[in-house]
Amino acid sequence: MTRRSITRQYPEVQPDLPPRTRGVIALFEENCTVCMLCARECPDWCIYIDSHKETLPAEGGGRARSRNVLDRFAIDFSLCMYCGICVEVCPFDALFWSPEFEYAEYDIAELTHEKERLREWMWTVPPPQAHDPSGEPPKEIAAAGKAASRAGRGRGA
Ligand code: SF4
Ligand code: SF4
Repeated sequence: MTRRSITRQYPEVQPDLPPRTRGVIALFEENCTVCMLCARECPDWCIYIDSHKETLPAEGGGRARSRNVLDRFAIDFSLCMYCGICVEVCPFDALFWSPEFEYAEYDIAELTHEKERLREWMWTVPPPQAHDPSGEPPKEIAAAGKAASRAGRGRGA
C-alpha cells in the first residue's frame, strides 16, 4: 500500500529468479533404476513409469542377471503441485529441480512431458552447491574415520 506498483515487462524482460527456483523437474535418465519410489510417493499420482526387464548374460562363471530398462517416464505438470517429494525421495539422484519455467501450453493435455523433454531440462539444472568447509562431514566419511581409529587402537593394544 505504501509502495508504487511495478509492472514486470515479461516476456521482453526476463524475471530475475533465484537460481534454485522450482521451475520444472528434470530427469537424469542414466541414473534412474526404475525403483518406482518417486511414483509411489507422489501425492498427486502424476508420474507415469513403464519399464521392462532385460537379462544380462552371465560373466565369469556367475549367473545371468536381470535389470530394469526404462521405457517411459512422464510427469503431468497439470497435476503436479511442485511439492518436491519425488526429488527428495529418489535414492539414485535421478530427479532435479530446474529453474526453467517457460513451458506453458494452450492445451492442458500437452502438459504431460516425456523423458526426452525431462532429460533436456537437465542442461538447465544449476551445479550442486559447494560443501560448507565448517559443516559436519558426510556420515559415510565419519563412519570410515571411526572404523579406522578403532582399528588403530586395536593394533596399539
Ligand atoms: S513435485 Fe510433488 S506432485 Fe510434482 S511430481 Fe514430484 S512428488 Fe508429484
Ligand atoms: S525414484 Fe529415482 S531411480 Fe526410482 S524410479 Fe524415480 S527417478 Fe527413477
